[in-house]
Amino acid sequence: MKITSIDCFKGTGALGGFITVRVNTDEGISGYGEAGLAYGNCTEAAFGQCQDFAKLVIGYDPFDTEKIWEHLHRHTFWGMNGGIVVSSAMAAIDTACWDIKGKALNMPVYKLLGGKTNDKLRAYASQLQFGWRTLIEKNDALTLLYDPQDYYDVVKDAVKDGYDAVKIDPVFAPLDPKDQKSVFATQGNQVRGCYREHDLKRSVERIAAAREAGGDDLDIIVEIHSLLDANTSAELAHALQPYRIMYMEEPTKPDNASLFRHVKEKGGLPLATGERSSTRWQFRQFMEDRTLNVIQPDLANTGGITETKKICDMAQVYDIGVQIHVCGGPIATAAALQVEAAIPNFVIHEEHNANLTSAWKKAGKYFLTPVNGAYEVPETPGIGQEMSEEAIANAVCVTIK
Ligand code: MG
Repeated sequence: MKITSIDCFKGTGALGGFITVRVNTDEGISGYGEAGLAYGNCTEAAFGQCQDFAKLVIGYDPFDTEKIWEHLHRHTFWGMNGGIVVSSAMAAIDTACWDIKGKALNMPVYKLLGGKTNDKLRAYASQLQFGWRTLIEKNDALTLLYDPQDYYDVVKDAVKDGYDAVKIDPVFAPLDPKDQKSVFATQGNQVRGCYREHDLKRSVERIAAAREAGGDDLDIIVEIHSLLDANTSAELAHALQPYRIMYMEEPTKPDNASLFRHVKEKGGLPLATGERSSTRWQFRQFMEDRTLNVIQPDLANTGGITETKKICDMAQVYDIGVQIHVCGGPIATAAALQVEAAIPNFVIHEEHNANLTSAWKKAGKYFLTPVNGAYEVPETPGIGQEMSEEAIANAVCVTIK
């Protein structure tokens, strides 16, 4: 089998705006993969990088995923230590090749990765500071929450959906709603760094409200989005200890593992990170000093199914659990489910609340969603997801032959 062409899609905002590739072959089988940068500010870069790399794999056999990955990693100059834009394009092409393998063999990808070690994938309701079902379906958008009572209500909403685990960023919303007009437009101004005392108090109140709403059996993940400096994050972690936090995600900037060690030693909470790291080489430092309890590689950014499986296996050596970071579109979600089904150190799946918006629901051919807080992994050949006809019709497409 040979790759004959690659369609690179840039979606429209109304359908999530995802960057997706469709790898086409001489046997008429096509596979989908996503470059997971559409929600940040690297959309055009990822779209261009997919086109650059697509040119390099025409004529390759899509079954040769190791060879293709090494080719893009070693023979492109910037492939080595190239950062998240480069590895996102590698991820898109790699994932699409795995999708082709599964379709050609009439098997879901998890079987090609060693079969299931997890029959059901426990999921958590993610990013509740932007609401959950009731609020999101009413507005068809994410809405930032400020008041601790809103955090109480949103956790109740997720628990009603069958979830027994949630993730909340208690620092994302400033104390005063007037500080911020829209959620994402001002993200660049949101470096909180050193906290004011009343901000810290309000963050603790938000998590306390979540604990009260969910009761003793709820698992709470605290997200920081790297918004705090290490000292402030440690202070907040220490203050949150009475609320039994499952783990604290991205407590500070993810570039320096020694800062994470500081937060862990001073704050006393289990830690996680990984969504901004690319390839095994950037995860190495966190594993070798055992800073993390959970790693969170983003399959659509860190190099695809091939690379994510290796990062997960590396983590197992250090007794570190895995929660794949899922913040992309339906293609990224489906590919993550396939890897999570196979790995023995799976902890929990991230069910992002953006999946509750109509844009996300319409972007995929199938609507995959947890039932009672857990996913059944699709048995559809390949990764189990494709772009919807509507998403294809509304996307900008550049075909590389
Ligand atoms: Mg995160």
